[in-house]
Amino acid sequence: MNNEVLLLKYGEVVMKGLNRGYFDNMIVRRVKQLLKDVEGTFSLEYAQSTLCIVGDEYADMVEAAEKMKKVFGVASVCRAYRCEKTVESIRETVKEHLEELIGDAKTFKCEGKRSDKSFPLSSPALSGEIGGTVLQLMPHLKVDVVNPDVTIRLEVRDKYAAVHGGGEKGAGGMPNGSAGHGLLLLSGGIDSPVAGYLMAKRGLSLDGLYFDSPPYTGQAAEDKVNALAEVLAGYCGKFYLHTISLTEIQEVLMRDCDERLFTVLLRRFMMRLAERQAKNVNASALITGESLGQVASQTLHALTVTNAVPELPVFRPCIAMDKDEIVQISRKIGSFEISILPYEDCCTVFVPRHPNTRPTLEQILEEEAKLDINGLVDRAMETHRHKKILG
Ligand code: ATP
Ligand code: MG
Repeated sequence: MNNEVLLLKYGEVVMKGLNRGYFDNMIVRRVKQLLKDVEGTFSLEYAQSTLCIVGDEYADMVEAAEKMKKVFGVASVCRAYRCEKTVESIRETVKEHLEELIGDAKTFKCEGKRSDKSFPLSSPALSGEIGGTVLQLMPHLKVDVVNPDVTIRLEVRDKYAAVHGGGEKGAGGMPNGSAGHGLLLLSGGIDSPVAGYLMAKRGLSLDGLYFDSPPYTGQAAEDKVNALAEVLAGYCGKFYLHTISLTEIQEVLMRDCDERLFTVLLRRFMMRLAERQAKNVNASALITGESLGQVASQTLHALTVTNAVPELPVFRPCIAMDKDEIVQISRKIGSFEISILPYEDCCTVFVPRHPNTRPTLEQILEEEAKLDINGLVDRAMETHRHKKILG
């Protein structure tokens, strides 16, 4: 009998009050979207902060479980066997799947959890009862209640019982889109995809904005950013990637402004363009991968001057992270190998030899007074292109 199910246990959303249904629906919508691409037909049953996914005989539960680990709002994903809520049925289910549950473990324990208090055995009594059966069938095993190799979990829920060997960690966070919409400044580097992932995890749906600089930047750099957008789309569902060209702005800055202030001047233009684009896509926040002190444009002075441009809040979730901490997340989400591909981006095309790490707003405004800021921004906005990426 195929009684295998997936149990998705919800995380922080269970703390929500009256608007709980709003968050739950978002999780369910994302789950359904992801299951569409998995072999088999699935039905969903929700109860007691847990979404139970039941597959038909063709269902690929392994792939389904893998996909469910990317759903924000889900704390753990558990492949379980569902059965009737009787001691005998639980016992039979454990027996049927015992080899798989035990694997090569030498010690084990059973952990009963009775949320339906009308069930005749208490949680410890159920653990003892089923533990006894396991020992009879596999006498070489030893019980270790403190640090067992394997814990067989026996959940007695309101409508059914479930047996499993423990869940895997889910993506956590809040359902995608539940906190609003943000625009991620997505370069080809390591930091910005991580920043996008972290904000998506807190419930922002994302559009991405990539600045290119043709002919100085090429197709390879764009392909790389596309690949990073695909990684993010895997978490967000869909992701619009916008591209705007900075070529004219960079050339004018090189020609007319103090080279030592080039990077900060450019970053202020990025913010102006990003804010315009954010308005066009109804995004209420900008997101960057900046990390304090990492490079000359990310000193507190430089960030202050850059931050003086946008009215929208700018989220910088990597601001307090060391590079190795950012790298660790980028490996986990699958962006690292893409990010380290060696293609130039617009920021590596013109790099001042001696950037000013302590720019003041006064100096910057003096430089900007030489420029037709609105004209440059308008013309850059005309280069806008976009594509939809599905995850
Ligand atoms: P990353 O690894 O994300 O490229 P970085 O350490 O190289 O970051 P910078 O190049 O100074 O830092 O960029 C800081 C942030 O500005 C990036 O994290 C990104 O959010 C944004 N940014 C930089 N270059 C671009 C670009 N070409 N297109 C879009 N956003 C960019
Ligand atoms: Mg970069």
